[in-house]
Amino acid sequence: MNLWQIIRRLVPYVRPYRSLVAATLLLTLIGAITAQVNPFVLRYTVDSVQRLLAEGKGLRAGMPLLLLISLILLTKELINIALEFGQKFFGEEIRIYVSSALSQDAVRRILSYRLGFYAELGNQTGRLQTRLDKGVDSLMKLVQDMFIDILPLLANAVVALGIMFAASWELGLVALAVLPVYFGLSYWQAYRLSAVRRQMRKLREDKNHGLLNLIDSAVVIKSFVREDYEEQKQNFLQQQLRRAQLHMRKTNFLFDGLKSFVEQLGVVFIVVLTAYLVLAGRMSLGAIMFHIMLFHNVSAPIRQLHRMYDELNEVHTYSEAFFEMLDAPDAVEPSGPVLPTHLRGTFELRHIDFTYPSGTQALHDVGLTIAAGKTTALVGLSGAGKSTVINLLCKLYQPQHGELLLDGIPLAEYNTHALRQNIGLVLQKNHIFKGTVEENIRYGLMEASREEVQQAAAKAFLHEQILQLPEGYETDAQQLSGGQQQRIAIARLFLKNPPIIFLDEPTASLDAVTTEQIKASIDALKRGRTVVIISHSLSQIVDADFAYVLQQGQVVESGTHRQLYEHDGAYRRIFDASARSLNIEKIAQTMTL
Ligand code: ADP
Repeated sequence: MNLWQIIRRLVPYVRPYRSLVAATLLLTLIGAITAQVNPFVLRYTVDSVQRLLAEGKGLRAGMPLLLLISLILLTKELINIALEFGQKFFGEEIRIYVSSALSQDAVRRILSYRLGFYAELGNQTGRLQTRLDKGVDSLMKLVQDMFIDILPLLANAVVALGIMFAASWELGLVALAVLPVYFGLSYWQAYRLSAVRRQMRKLREDKNHGLLNLIDSAVVIKSFVREDYEEQKQNFLQQQLRRAQLHMRKTNFLFDGLKSFVEQLGVVFIVVLTAYLVLAGRMSLGAIMFHIMLFHNVSAPIRQLHRMYDELNEVHTYSEAFFEMLDAPDAVEPSGPVLPTHLRGTFELRHIDFTYPSGTQALHDVGLTIAAGKTTALVGLSGAGKSTVINLLCKLYQPQHGELLLDGIPLAEYNTHALRQNIGLVLQKNHIFKGTVEENIRYGLMEASREEVQQAAAKAFLHEQILQLPEGYETDAQQLSGGQQQRIAIARLFLKNPPIIFLDEPTASLDAVTTEQIKASIDALKRGRTVVIISHSLSQIVDADFAYVLQQGQVVESGTHRQLYEHDGAYRRIFDASARSLNIEKIAQTMTL
């Protein structure tokens, strides 16, 4: 993406504020003209003072002159204050509006992305955050530079240059000759820095991603006492970043020095040339000050334009990354036109192949049917592909080959949001948002009343427990135990009341008593719905109406519990191993004693 394309992308964001942009430009343009007042006033002052001295007149004769000058300069400054205020304030207003629109657009886009997008390299949490923050910052600079600063600066320089040419063409030429040297240096500087800038962007993204990971992994790091190791990993990144930063600063200082040398060279030329012209009697003494100030009025905006040019190069890398994130190809979740009204919940998978974006093929030629209104169990060792089946049924991922139908219509043709309104998902560990218990349960149905929230909690056997907490439903939900959080997830489903429910090891990390209670609420939840359950808990498997056994991404057996058990295959082996792991014989002996 080149700079021009980025600017074109920004235009729609700036367009709503075009009258503000016009007002800012106008103010700055007037500012460019008032900036030329000083040289004229100074020349007039020096020449008048010199004339008065030559005529032998003193302070008294000079008083009106001093008054006039003060009045002009003061009025000019007052106008300038108003101009600058308006210009800065309008400029800021544009930047604030545009940056908030950009951030909001980015958030909306990120939320619409398919799941695989977040897992892909370059899109993980820290990296996305860096891209978003730095991207919006950079784009704001771009808005400031391209839509607010550039025209007035150019106007400033051109007006001053015109006046110089009008005063003396030799002087105009000297001022003009400095510009290409200046431009050349800036171009060279940008060229030398472009690779370092990209490297720095990547390093910053890596660093932020690494930092977030550190916080996520704090318990493991501490338990294995790997603080030093992690510190070294960060230090390695830090070193690279340091080197790149130093290199960049060094290059910048070097070029800044060269550029300021060229500018001073211009000043020296102007002074010498004007002094020569004054001595030759072609100009008055006041011309020296006049020309130096005019040259300043040419060089200052040019210097600013170059600062902008440097900045644009820096901004370019981050803006590019920002729009890359916004425009990511195939990143948006696919959706279809079908709006389901009464889903029965019959899923049919035929010859399904699925490979994760990482390249792991998780399903091979899978065929299975999930009957409406029944409970179907997916059984298999871990890594067999059970959760992947559920991911496909929720449309979180799309299979590469095969047919996936829901009530006879390809799943891809359903409107994704409408479909998910009909599906409830309970995982082994469910996300609890920062907020109260009530807010977390209400996530299942935003418009639910307090009573409905409490009824749902009661059905999930959570109500009594919540009432015992000092702050009741106002308790911070993230502080609840694993079992209580799991009940929140189930209460959410009671509120959502979807016809189809997927349970992915809902009791895997819970103690026996909690498991028993949660099983009771799951049994209540299952009534009258289509349920797919993945579980290692024998009690939940034997309750299913039908089961499929998966092994290394393939369906190897299917049938009712009894059929599968009698078949004496993979199911039987898993079932017996689970029973042995429970030490069922001894348990049975104890219970009969
Ligand atoms: P199960 O639920 O039976 O334990 P999964 O469906 O989670 O198995 O995993 C099946 C295979 O797919 C495994 O090899 C696993 O490593 C891989 N896998 C699961 N999730 C992802 C993912 N998000 N990205 C890449 N590979 C994955």
